Amino acid sequence: MFHWRADILPGVSAAFTDAGAGNLALHVGDDPAAVQERRFRLEESIAAAPGSLRFMNQVHGNTVAVMSTGSPAPEADAMVSRGLPLAVMVADCIPVLLAGESGNGPVLAAVHAGRPGIANNVLPAAVESMKSLGASGIRAWLGPSICGACYEVPAAMRDEVSALVPATRSVTSWGTPALDLPAGARAQLEAAGVRVEHSGPCTFETETLYSYRRDRNTGRFAGLVWCHD
Ligand SMILES: [Zn+2]
Repeated sequence: MFHWRADILPGVSAAFTDAGAGNLALHVGDDPAAVQERRFRLEESIAAAPGSLRFMNQVHGNTVAVMSTGSPAPEADAMVSRGLPLAVMVADCIPVLLAGESGNGPVLAAVHAGRPGIANNVLPAAVESMKSLGASGIRAWLGPSICGACYEVPAAMRDEVSALVPATRSVTSWGTPALDLPAGARAQLEAAGVRVEHSGPCTFETETLYSYRRDRNTGRFAGLVWCHD
């Protein structure tokens, strides 16, 4: 069920699911009841109450939603909370989990960082939001995503994105223009004073993970961050 799972702060854990957890997204044509059942199983596996994991309606923007008890699923690509469990869904984009300490306990974030999100600074926006809640010592865990040697794009798109985030400029293993989203995310996070603790493998090259580029009609896996006793 989990590709990776770790304790990241005292009382805080993070994980990235794999295809064994099944598709966790409602927007890809899957049976909604089956998706809901998989989300419940996932919550059970991290000892979270049913329905407590917060998912967002991801739109490739840079809106950050500050979540509190009772907040509906936001239309956003980043969520920040004072400890409420958060989830982000992906299949090639980067699921980024962040955590920092504050005087009121941990501050968490889950971010959907794809090409538009990286270009539009969704990660720095999430870090700013965490700091506004008092977080310091913020660290980041990057989940599996398509790598800079696999993510082929038209030359004009590489030029456009790398003009904004130079670290994204890349070449595929077969010699064509590409974007390296994990390198771009790392550069943006480090510029915001955030240490990157983990970076996952390439989805396109890992059969146990969903990859939109590889399979098109595919599910979504998830990044999760949550508090526990
Ligand atoms: Zn790759």
